[in-house]
Amino acid sequence: MLEINNLHVKLADEDRAILNGLTLNVKRGEVHAIMGPNGSGKSTLSYVLAGREGYEVTDGSVTFKGEDLLELAPDQRAAKGLFLAFQYPIEIPGVATMQFLKVALNSQRKARGEKELTTPEFMKLVKDRAQKLDISQDMLKRPVNVGFSGGEKKRAEILQMAVLEPSLCILDETDSGLDIDALRVVADGVNALRSPDRAMVVITHYQRLLDYIVPDHVHVLSQGRIVKSGGKELALELEAKGYAEFTKEAA
Ligand code: ADP
Ligand code: MG
Ligand code: MG
Repeated sequence: MLEINNLHVKLADEDRAILNGLTLNVKRGEVHAIMGPNGSGKSTLSYVLAGREGYEVTDGSVTFKGEDLLELAPDQRAAKGLFLAFQYPIEIPGVATMQFLKVALNSQRKARGEKELTTPEFMKLVKDRAQKLDISQDMLKRPVNVGFSGGEKKRAEILQMAVLEPSLCILDETDSGLDIDALRVVADGVNALRSPDRAMVVITHYQRLLDYIVPDHVHVLSQGRIVKSGGKELALELEAKGYAEFTKEAA
């Protein structure tokens, strides 16, 4: 599904390397966790995958479903099934969550050459998904993220995922200071959307999230490279030892 090979990334306007030879292979159906200390490059990785400006790939490759991801525009990546959830979701005053989701879904369907959903078709879909995720109809009418609590923002994000049905979800939950309720929302949502056809990459600073989302693979990122990979037990080892030990080994 996703093959990252020897990825080197620097800031576009500065000679400062952030990712230094990152290699990661994510297969269909797998859940990977990427953990690492602050400043190790976790968010940069998700931004580069999303196609955000300000970063320059100086070496390496990223293949998504057999295609060169780095050659695709951000909306083409999304239409191909890449979904990125960020730490700081944007607020869109004046646009109801339901309307936003409809435009997002239909623009992706259009890009894929699929028929756009009519309003009744879309309403049926979104109500079904919201119900399954225990999301109130009331929230769908409110403007996107405006005045949403941390937990509500997470619910909106998970609902967006459930409506768009991406094949690869990347969630950057680092430093977001999720309270226990928001953490459960993310975890329950991610677990509900796990499927043999869908892969997930959960980026997190905290081991706690992985008590609820049990990953198949755990990777430690340090100074822009994956310095250790293992199974779910690696997250517990990290919790017990801290990052310092792994960072030292890598150096
Ligand atoms: P993490 O998410 O693991 O905390 P980041 O990817 O946010 O790490 O940052 C990695 C390093 O790159 C940090 O030293 C950070 O200051 C730097 N960095 C990332 N993006 C930028 C930017 N746009 N401008 C300046 N420095 C940046
Ligand atoms: Mg950080
Ligand atoms: Mg970060």
